[in-house]
Amino acid sequence: MQEPVIGIDLGTTNSAVATVEGGRARIIPSRSGGRLTPSVVGLDGDGERVVGLAAQRLAEEQPDSVVWATKRFLGRRCTPELIEEARALVPFPLIPGPTGDVRVRMAGKVLPITQVAAMILGELKLDAEAHFGRRVNRCVITVPANFDDNQRSATREAASIAGLEVLRLVNEPTAAALAYGLSRSFQGNALVFDLGGGTFDVSILEVKDGVFEVKATGGDSSLGGEDFDQRIVQWLVAQVEEPLREAVGRDVSSLRRLKVAAEAAKRELTEQEEALISVAALGDYTAEGSRRLTGVETALTRSFFEALSEPLSRRCLEVCQTVMREAKMEPRAVDVVLLVGGMTRVPLVRRLVADFFGRAPSTDVHPDEAVALGAAIQADELVRQSGAALLLDVAGQSVGVGVLGGRVKRLIAKNTSVPVVARDVFLPSRAGQAEVRIPIYQGEGDFQDDNHKLGEVVLRNLQGGARAEAQIEVTFALSSEGILSVRAVDKRTGLAEQVRLDARTSLPGPEAAKLSQEQARYASEQAQEDARQTEEKFRKLLERGEKLARVLQRSAQENPSPEAVAAVGTVRSLVDTGRAALQAGDAEQCALVSRQLIQLLSGRAA
Ligand code: AMP
Repeated sequence: MQEPVIGIDLGTTNSAVATVEGGRARIIPSRSGGRLTPSVVGLDGDGERVVGLAAQRLAEEQPDSVVWATKRFLGRRCTPELIEEARALVPFPLIPGPTGDVRVRMAGKVLPITQVAAMILGELKLDAEAHFGRRVNRCVITVPANFDDNQRSATREAASIAGLEVLRLVNEPTAAALAYGLSRSFQGNALVFDLGGGTFDVSILEVKDGVFEVKATGGDSSLGGEDFDQRIVQWLVAQVEEPLREAVGRDVSSLRRLKVAAEAAKRELTEQEEALISVAALGDYTAEGSRRLTGVETALTRSFFEALSEPLSRRCLEVCQTVMREAKMEPRAVDVVLLVGGMTRVPLVRRLVADFFGRAPSTDVHPDEAVALGAAIQADELVRQSGAALLLDVAGQSVGVGVLGGRVKRLIAKNTSVPVVARDVFLPSRAGQAEVRIPIYQGEGDFQDDNHKLGEVVLRNLQGGARAEAQIEVTFALSSEGILSVRAVDKRTGLAEQVRLDARTSLPGPEAAKLSQEQARYASEQAQEDARQTEEKFRKLLERGEKLARVLQRSAQENPSPEAVAAVGTVRSLVDTGRAALQAGDAEQCALVSRQLIQLLSGRAA
């Protein structure tokens, strides 16, 4: 049997893993039974990792032992601005690592953000392995379309720590449209409106004969459901009685519980006009001695929630306007609007989209699952090379070289189809220079200060001489997944320098290797435990299968028919195959029989 491949949606709030089975993309359920895995990671009292639902539960009791929404900080530089930005969003502190990478503190330990992402990916890998009964190594992972080079590289680094080979990184909206397009064989212009827990992406895709071309992308990597929750939290804090208001506004434990209540109210308002909110025992939990506590009891109406969210909905519309302008398209030229991300269930968001584009958005694909399903479809195609839906993508941001006057000379413009190679020749700023530094920027501003610096190429041992003679050719190659490599050549001497731009915030080599080993050790222990539990469950399943065969046998005797006899034969042979596989220790075959038996048993129950 061919080695399975999986598609992973590594989300800010939730993550999901999917695969193509029997020609259809399906979500792989987690070992704890859910279809989505909360992107929450924690360390329990023994310092053991907990991921997903278990970590979410741990957060209720020990908020300091858990981190979430960490995707927002993945691959970013730990600047004072970012630390400040994070303070408004999450109660755990960001700490700079040795390469300027972001680290988080939980349960008194400091962990690199890539390790946190690797823990989530590792958990999804284990879910997939339990599903298939064998090792799974290859995957496609989705990233927001506006993720820059560093963020993409960090995603790859996290995958590598988790022991996953990334066949390709795919933009989330593209993956969603892939899931949609293949299920409906759609032709035309599709707009993907993806509002998740922490990020917002808008993409316009032209879909024709199975080819998906991203015409334009835009977004805001700091806008999502968490911000809507925060609006409600701020409103709740304002209702706390004096003099405790300020203390509650700073208290990690109180804020955490207010946030849970705010999110629950937001979800309730999707179905109802009003949500009651009641949070007790708020106060300063870090204060010494006896504590004064208070509570908030209030009602939030849908219309007031919409008023509170006004600045955020305005930002959503501004992004839509910018993307339409870049695509040189009128909102009416959009043939279909696809909603992706849990936040698109909110009536306000649906209304905004319908008003802006003049058409009701499509919700055919489950908004929380579309991205993972699309990733699975892409992974399946990459291994089968069927060419059924070739994916054409574009550069999400412009890249260029820093030149005199603090300006940026663009080599590859935003929305250019990728992969692409671009070259230009530059002169040193002074004659006789022995060394030149070529800074590389990503972004849309004309000036360096308005862009994001990716790194620099340093060319040494130049031969000096007149300025015009010392020509340096810079070549940018942007891969199909948006990762940039840069090469600079001294045209006179042929001296060349290649830079790995991702080297800047990635982990120091020995640390990455140590984390990979740790992850592998954890995964192998966990896999043994999973195998034991799976075997136990499988034995019970076979017993249920035998019982079903006996029931079917009896009814075939009472009402004989060829169909009834065949049904008995199907169940019997499946149970026999399962017993033989168990005897032979063939985990993959057991997993296959298990899935078929579950289908049979649930079909009968239905
Ligand atoms: P995602 O990152 O796509 O999983 O989106 C998660 C975000 O969607 C979170 O902010 C959730 O609170 C929000 N969300 C999920 N379901 C609903 C719902 N039924 N109503 C309102 N918001 C929801």
